[in-house]
Amino acid sequence: MSDIPHYSPQTESIYRRPLTAARRMLVIYAHPDDEAFGNAGIILAARHAGIEVHYICATRGECGTVDAHYLTTYPDVRALRTAEQMAAADALDLGAVHFLNYRDSNMPGSPDNQNPQALVQAPVGDVATRVATLIDDIKPEFVITFPPYGGYGHPDHIAIHHATLAALAQTTWQVPNLFYSTFSTTLLRAIILLMRVIGRNPRAFGRNGDIDVVRVAEEATPITTTVDCRHVIPAKITAWQCHASQGGGMTRVPRIFWRWFYGNETLTRITPPATGRREVLRFAV
Ligand SMILES: [Zn+2]
Repeated sequence: MSDIPHYSPQTESIYRRPLTAARRMLVIYAHPDDEAFGNAGIILAARHAGIEVHYICATRGECGTVDAHYLTTYPDVRALRTAEQMAAADALDLGAVHFLNYRDSNMPGSPDNQNPQALVQAPVGDVATRVATLIDDIKPEFVITFPPYGGYGHPDHIAIHHATLAALAQTTWQVPNLFYSTFSTTLLRAIILLMRVIGRNPRAFGRNGDIDVVRVAEEATPITTTVDCRHVIPAKITAWQCHASQGGGMTRVPRIFWRWFYGNETLTRITPPATGRREVLRFAV
């Protein structure tokens, strides 16, 4: 590890190889695991087509809930999740991970929101300038980030969404393709219905009861674009498993259903705007 202090406003770029590929993708999220749980298939499909992929990770996921046994060989959650991220970088064959070194802000209402090092405490312009510098350096053909609600409302997801949009407004490099990650809400809407039937509150979901599943379904941006990931499913699962402390080891779907559950990933096209017909994004030229 480098000698950059924790929570410095200095970007720590960890390269796995020099940036020489002609075609590049930049994935911009908040935590170690967002890239794999959200877009492992897309990243691997892009790599398969020879596209270099870099990940800007705004925090080290310090506030992630972690079972104690994961910490036996690490001093803290930050170190554990940084190690998990770099293992995932190997599994996804990322060219580099760029840590912005903000602190995880945790879910709304947590005292971690108020930590002066938290991503949500950083002026959006400051974060944007740092993201813009990386965009101008990497010159990606594709950028993927969170939609406005950040998937499930995590303050860091929302913060990095706004910072990315502000960054794109100030870069010299004009990113030709901007996408938000998104997902089908069909299964989610069935779960909401089921929860109501059995008397559970879908607005207080998850381990800590802090996820509003109704809002998650309402705020999901439309699917405009699908990426075929069938050829990378085993590698995708390997990447998830690198984030074991965050549940990445959980692959309960029987293998015969993998192609159905894991065979494609979805996006919302922002730039250039979607045409109205759903596109299948093929990376090969
Ligand atoms: Zn996250």
